[in-house]
Amino acid sequence: MGEPTSKRVQDENRKKLRSYYEKRDGEARRELLIDLANLGDDDCGWFWKKWGPGLRKAGRRGGLSFRRQVANDQELLDLREELRLIWKRRNQSHARATVFSWLNSSTSYSLPPFVVVSVDIGCSPNPLNFRVQLGYGAAELAWKMAVCENPSCDNPYFLKYRDSRQRVCGETNECREFGQREVKKTWWKNNRGANAGGRAI
Ligand SMILES: [Zn+2]
Repeated sequence: MGEPTSKRVQDENRKKLRSYYEKRDGEARRELLIDLANLGDDDCGWFWKKWGPGLRKAGRRGGLSFRRQVANDQELLDLREELRLIWKRRNQSHARATVFSWLNSSTSYSLPPFVVVSVDIGCSPNPLNFRVQLGYGAAELAWKMAVCENPSCDNPYFLKYRDSRQRVCGETNECREFGQREVKKTWWKNNRGANAGGRAI
């Protein structure tokens, strides 16, 4: 008699656990990609201090760190350039080829691309594998990737959190104000441009 209830509880627990793992790694992965895309030429030390050990604390016990999966800072900056090209969303086949090459080369460190969370819950991309996290993250987030239109933005590579028309990162007042001005300009052009004859607003 008690079985249906306990079955339901089990199912709910499984769902909760699954979304817990997806959320925990997913949020860290988003941050990792944003940090790498916005990385300054001289900030590799900062990047490795933050991400060198791996995606999350649980993954930092032993194993091969992210830091040791990249030969040197130049290789990190090369990965950044490839990620930026995906982020600019200009060439889909190039983006696909880049993700493919990351996933392909990810096995050279004897780290499996996926780990089994539990047979009940499923697999997730290996939090210890740097290139798997990059490739999986890029494929997962590409549709949200955008570059802030404010030319003086410090961290222009962002993920859209509002709608597909979002044009600025929204991280700073300066970018938000720039965005509002651009929206006004576009509106004016579309609605009054033809009749206004260039009159000031
Ligand atoms: Zn910005």
